[in-house]
This record gives sequence, structure tokens and C-alpha cells, in this order.
Amino acid sequence: MSQIIDGKALSLAFRTEIRDRVAELSARYGRVPCLAVIMVGDNPASRSYVRGKIKAAGFVGMDSRLVELPETVSEQRLLDIIAELNADAGVDGVLVQLPLPPHIREDRVIDAIALEKDVDGFHPMNVANLWLGRPCTVPCTPKGILRLIASTDIAIAGKRAVVVGRSNIVGKPVAKLLLDAQATVTIAHSRTENLAALTREADILVAAVGRPGMIGADMVGEGAVVIDVGINRLPDGRLVGDVDFDAVSQKAGWITPVPGGVGPMTITMLLENTLECFIRKQ
Ligand code: NDP
Repeated sequence: MSQIIDGKALSLAFRTEIRDRVAELSARYGRVPCLAVIMVGDNPASRSYVRGKIKAAGFVGMDSRLVELPETVSEQRLLDIIAELNADAGVDGVLVQLPLPPHIREDRVIDAIALEKDVDGFHPMNVANLWLGRPCTVPCTPKGILRLIASTDIAIAGKRAVVVGRSNIVGKPVAKLLLDAQATVTIAHSRTENLAALTREADILVAAVGRPGMIGADMVGEGAVVIDVGINRLPDGRLVGDVDFDAVSQKAGWITPVPGGVGPMTITMLLENTLECFIRKQ
């Protein structure tokens, strides 16, 4: 039976530290960090993520601004709002909740966020710096995943890590962070052959696919650390990950639950990134 990596409890510990730090910085600089979140349209999943981010900012004593725009907003209007927030000295972090409606080019929006306020770590310069091993803002979900693994007693160095999924926001950056932590990393994707044979060899398995329960017990090695990034809403309303939790938890050494694993850590790392942007500005 696996040990559960409790993302909720770990998040609370980190958020409490961040809250103390915010109080300290507020006394020193006379203001608290401020996170601006732009939301376009009314996607229910996006709305719930945005609500979680704003609430978490409040918990740690940060200010936040929520800019809600209609689905029909023009790309130019969105870019203008980003420019205003970039220029606003009272704002330390700017994030645009993805996905965006199809008439808005995501790349143009990501590129428009000032590098020093890019709390999501999606700006091309942040991505380049991550891959070059230079100082940067590390994307929240991959950063949180490394913290979750660090909370186990498993040392990453020398281990075989398999990341299933190669998106720019999760798969690729988490693979780079695992490589930096001295793992031997394989990135798998929809065209990978013999996926199960590959994942079974992993000491650390990260599933970031978006397919409910696709990682079964037959795909996991005995004692592996299994990180489930997937967030999938089933027709009956239940939220499940990419890993078949009940079956895999009989075999893995460590496993993250969904909900309560990677999700809360992602938001916590967003708070940490906002704090880092604030500190760099002072
Ligand atoms: P994307 O859809 O951008 O990427 C999915 C990846 O999975 C692709 O690389 C795709 O391969 C791969 N894939 C699809 N089908 C298979 C298959 N059958 N076998 C192997 N690989 C496959 O998703 P994201 O990375 O944005 O998100 C992944 C999941 O994580 C989603 O459920 C999302 O909701 C969740 N998520 C959770 C977060 C959190 O905070 N917990 C944060 C971000 C995402 P290919 O490239 O070949 O198409």
C-alpha cells in the first residue's frame, strides 16, 4: 500500500510560511505583493481555478485584482489591459487564465506579459532561462511537483523518471526540473510505443495527460513515486486524475491523490512566484 503525498497539507505548510513572509515584507516596505488575474469568458473550470488563486492570495495576506472580460473581448483590448497592468507599480504579478477563446492568439498574450511580472513562468524568456539553467520564474505546476517529490524520502538523483505528456506548461518543464535534480528522464507522449513497458521501469512517474485513469497498476513499478497531474471531470461530476488511484495505490511506494495533490501545490507555487517577483522589484 502506497504512502499518500498530501498536497493539501504540504501546501498549508508552505502557505503559512509565505503568509509570515508577506507580513514581514509588508512591515518593511509598507505594501504587500499584489497579483492580477485576468479571466476571459466564463469557462466553469477556469472560474474555479481563478477563485482558488484569489482566495489563496487573500489567505497569505496578498492583494489581488481580478479582471473579468467577456468571451467576445478583442485581442487588442486584452493586450491593452496587460500593458496597463505591466505599467502599474502596484501590481507585482500578472497572469492570464488559460485557455483563451479561439480568436485570441495565446502566444501574443503570453509574450505581452512583462517578464518581471510573469508569475506563471510562461514568457519565452523565462522558458529559455529555465532550459539554460539561468535564474528564472519556474512554472507553478512543475515547481510544485518537485516539492511534492522532495517531501518523500526518495532522493531524485540517479533515478529513472518518466514524464507522460509533453505540454509546454507541465510535461516539458517538469522533465527539465527532474533532469536538473539529476534524474535520468524520458518524456512519453501520444506516439510513444510500448508506453506501459517504459512507465513500469520508472522510479518516478509523472502523468500529465488529461485522460481519466489511463495509468493503471500494470503500468507502474513496485514502489514507484507516482505524481498525478491530471484533472478530469467525469460525467457524474467527480474529479479524477490520470492515474487509477485505487489500483495504483496498491503498488506504488508514494502517490498523489486527485483532488488534494498537485492542484493545491500549483496555487501555492503561484503565491511563491508572486512573492519572488515582489522581492526582486524592491
Ligand atoms: P495537454 O493536452 O497540453 O498535453 C497532454 C499530453 O498528453 C500531450 O503531450 C499528449 O501527447 C499526451 N497524451 C495524450 N494522450 C496520450 C496517450 N494516450 N498516451 C501518452 N500520452 C498521451 O495537457 P496539459 O499538460 O496542459 O495537462 C495535462 C493534464 O494535467 C490535464 O488533465 C490538465 O487539466 C492537468 N493540469 C493540472 C494542473 C494542476 O495544477 N493540477 C495544471 C495543469 C494541467 P501529444 O503531445 O503527442 O499530443
